Amino acid sequence: MTQSFFPPQRRLMGPGPSDVSPRVLAALARPTIGHLDPLFIGLMDEIKTLLQYAFQTSNKLTLPVSAPGSAGMETVFVNLIEPGDKVIVCQNGVFGGRMRENVERIGATAIMVEDNWGEPVSVSKVETALSQHSDAKALAFVHAETSTGARSDAEALCELAHRYGALTIVDAVTSLGGVELKTDQWGIDAIYSGTQKCLSCVPGLSPVSFSDRAVEVIRSRKTKVQSWFLDLNLVMAYWSGDSGRSYHHTAPVNALYALHEALLILKEEGLENSIARHQLHHRAFAAGLKALGLDIVVEQQYRLPQLNAVSVLAGVDEAVVRRKLLQDWDLEIGAGLGSLAGKVWRIGLMGHAARRSNVVYCLGALEQVLLQLGVKVDAGAALAAAENVYAAA
Ligand code: PLP
Repeated sequence: MTQSFFPPQRRLMGPGPSDVSPRVLAALARPTIGHLDPLFIGLMDEIKTLLQYAFQTSNKLTLPVSAPGSAGMETVFVNLIEPGDKVIVCQNGVFGGRMRENVERIGATAIMVEDNWGEPVSVSKVETALSQHSDAKALAFVHAETSTGARSDAEALCELAHRYGALTIVDAVTSLGGVELKTDQWGIDAIYSGTQKCLSCVPGLSPVSFSDRAVEVIRSRKTKVQSWFLDLNLVMAYWSGDSGRSYHHTAPVNALYALHEALLILKEEGLENSIARHQLHHRAFAAGLKALGLDIVVEQQYRLPQLNAVSVLAGVDEAVVRRKLLQDWDLEIGAGLGSLAGKVWRIGLMGHAARRSNVVYCLGALEQVLLQLGVKVDAGAALAAAENVYAAA
């Protein structure tokens, strides 16, 4: 007989979703009210203000799209780009490839700037592309490539794009809340994120934000946005109508309670502190990995603290390790994607999951699993190395 579903309590240390804080889960379970209830409208306004803080922007058009990060990506592209436009798209992992798909499905041209997986987007290659395609409408890149754990220099890339008169489109799904991200200061025109990474909220919402310049581009489109649901001209009447809001779609009321709580937690901690926390736990984790004889594929200066792509040891079946961690330790880590499939584990330390108990637990579990598989590791060395980092912090 089919019964109620009770999931086990896992530790989510993969590429997302990350561990959701109990405060956020509690908010999710509060009574559902109408999505046009005046109290709910008040909550929407607070979410907007909290998102502006998280993105470090004063953009009026800042809101959560009622669907996952991929919908935020699509919202940005379908609203800003029209058939026949040219967009410079950077690809150094999986998600740049999805940007290309979006551009091409619109009937626009994607000029690809490709870099090796595990490396950041090359600023000099982008400069060459911009100088060769002075008619490019936008430059699009992924700030934090979740498939590899590499961080690109968003500030330098945006500065360059503006010098050549191009709009900037930034994927901040994994970066928001985990590393420095300054939407206004860096001149980002359109940015999207997800709730399930460093915000540690439930999956299924995508915060987006658009500069006034981007809003102007949307308002002066020659063609209709081909997606009714994602057309911001329509969504704006729901999210930014000052006097009374008109129905567009039924907002995911409880998921928005959860987002409000997650953003409140970020505000209470403070962005700077959240970023510093991610750094600290990454350093402790990296020290422990090293003691286990494991390397992170990305060069130190480009590493994302919240996503560690760890090289699989020769002779070890990476899928067996992941399965054992899940079955015996209730610990989820991720597999490699694309050209890194089978070669890396992706271990996340995102948001609420970026904490000492997780670092210690994961290192201990990995050590045990590797020992069981006959790998020679110096038992206890990983925890000692991590603890040394904490002791010195
Ligand atoms: N962009 C990046 C960098 C991501 O890591 C992800 C998801 O992992 C997405 C976009 C898509 O987000 P979602 O899976 O929420 O649709």
